[in-house]
Amino acid sequence: MENMSFILYGGTGDLAKRKIYPALFNLYIDHKMPESFSIIAMGRKEQSHADFQQIVANSLQTFSRRKVNDPAAVNGFLESIRYCSLNVNHPEDYHKLRGMVESREKELNISGNRIFYLSVAPEFFETIASNLKDSGLTATTGWKRLIIEKPFGRDLESARHLNRELSKVFDEEEIYRIDHYLGKPMVQNLEILESSNPILKALWSNHHIANVQITASETVGVEERAGYYDNSGAIRDMVQNHMLQLLMMISMRLPRKSDATEVRMKKRNVMESLRPLDKETIASNVIRGQYTEGEIQGKPVPGYTVEPGVPANSKNDTFIALRLWIDNYFWSDVPFYIRTGKRMKEKSTRIVIEFKEPLKGQTTTNDPNLLVIEINPNEGIFIQLNKKDPMNNEKLEPMRVNCFSSGEELPEAYENLIFDAIRGDSTFFAHWDEVELSWEYVQPILDAFEQDSIPLSYYPAGSNGPEASDKLVQADGFKWWLDK
Ligand code: NAD
Repeated sequence: MENMSFILYGGTGDLAKRKIYPALFNLYIDHKMPESFSIIAMGRKEQSHADFQQIVANSLQTFSRRKVNDPAAVNGFLESIRYCSLNVNHPEDYHKLRGMVESREKELNISGNRIFYLSVAPEFFETIASNLKDSGLTATTGWKRLIIEKPFGRDLESARHLNRELSKVFDEEEIYRIDHYLGKPMVQNLEILESSNPILKALWSNHHIANVQITASETVGVEERAGYYDNSGAIRDMVQNHMLQLLMMISMRLPRKSDATEVRMKKRNVMESLRPLDKETIASNVIRGQYTEGEIQGKPVPGYTVEPGVPANSKNDTFIALRLWIDNYFWSDVPFYIRTGKRMKEKSTRIVIEFKEPLKGQTTTNDPNLLVIEINPNEGIFIQLNKKDPMNNEKLEPMRVNCFSSGEELPEAYENLIFDAIRGDSTFFAHWDEVELSWEYVQPILDAFEQDSIPLSYYPAGSNGPEASDKLVQADGFKWWLDK
C-alpha cells in the first residue's frame, strides 16, 4: 500500500472521535495502514499536538472496536498524528497547513499522496475545495483523493451545483462520497450474493420473486438534531442516499468478479430503469408519516412536534414508505417497497425477498419462502422454508435456516470504507451518476411535500409506522414481513 498523508477537516468533531480515529487505529493494529503515514487533524481552536493526541487516545478508549491494551501500538498510532488549528474560511490558514503537510511528508518520506477528508458541515465543502486549490495543497506530486460525508446537496439543483464546484478541483475518480451503509459487511456481501450462489441466481428475477422489502427503522427520535432533521426529514436523511443505495445493491445483476466500474454501471442502470413518479402517481406510491407520542420499550416518549427545537406546526416526515418499480428485463412487475422511520418499534435494517407461490391454494400453508438479509444490528441471512408440523402432519409450518455472523467482531463500516479509500478502491462509494439519479428520482417527492400535496399520516411512537404504509403493501396482496 502506498504511503500517504491523511488530512482531516473536522478533526475535533463528534464523527472524527466516534468513528474516524477508531477506524484508523483498528486498521493500524490490523496492519492495514501503509508503512509510512501522517495524520493531520484540524479544528478551530489552538492546542498542542500532545494535548490533541490525548484527546484521540481518549476517543480510542471509548469507541475503538478492538481493545486498547497495547501501549506500544497506541503510542505508535498517536505518534503519527499532528494537530493544526485552521478556520476553513481563512485562506492564510491553508498555507500554514501546507507547511505542516509538506514537512511531515519530508520527515516520513511520503511521496505526496494525499487524502483530504471533510468531516465538517456540508456548507463548507465548496470553500474548502477552492482553498485547497488556491493554496497549492492539491498540486501535489503524488495522488490526491477527497472523502466527503453526507449530505451531498439538499435537492437536485444544489447537488449539481456542489458537484460542479468540487469538479473544479477533483476529478470524479478522486472523489469518495461516503454512504456508510455501503461500508456495512452485509451490504458489501450483496455484491456477490446472487452472482456467486447458483441457487439464488436461478431464482433472481420476476419469474420467481414476488416483491422485495427494504426496511430501516430506528427506535430513537430526533434527539438533539432537530435543527438539521426538521429541514431534511426522512426523505433526505435516509431515502435519497441509504435506502436507494440498498435498492441498487440488491437489484443490480452483476457478472461474477466485477470491478468498481462494472458495479457503478450496473447501479446506474437500476436508477435509470426506475419508473419516475409524477403528479398522478406520487400520492398512491409515497406515504409520508410523522410520529406522535407513544411508548418505546415500555417508556413513554413525546410526539415529534413537542421535541425540543421542533416547531409545533412542523409537517416534517419522520417516516417514509415508498413503492418503486424497476422497469427492466429482470424486475418488471416486481414491486420494491422501501420503508424507513424514527421512533418505530424495532431498530432494524433488513431486506426481505418474498418468493412467488406457484402452488398457492394447493398447499396448507400461507407462508411463502423468504430470503431475509439482516444488516443491522444483527448481520446475517436466513431462508424461510416450509416443513411439516410435527404435531399435525396435515399442516405445514415455516422453518428458518439461519446463518448469522460468528461471535467474532466484524470491521465497522468506517474501517472498510477508509481502507478502500486508502487503497483507491471506490466500489463502495457513491458515484456522482448515482447521486444525481437519486436526486432526480426524489425531487418530485420533495416538491410534493413542499406543496403539501401528499397527506401526512401519523403513527404512535413504538409502532411499525402509519396504517397507510400497511395499506400500501396490502393493496398489492402483500404484507410487511417480520414486523414485531
Ligand atoms: P461536529 O459539529 O461534532 O464537528 C464539526 C467539526 O467542524 C469540528 O471539528 C469543528 O471544529 C469543525 N468546524 C466547524 N466550523 C469550522 C470552521 N469555520 N473552520 C474549521 N473547522 C470548523 O459535527 P460531526 O458530528 O463531527 O459531523 C461532521 C459532519 O459530518 C456533519 O456536518 C455532517 O454533515 C456529517 N455527518 C455526520 C454524521 C454523524 O454521525 N455525526 C453522520 C453523517 C454525516
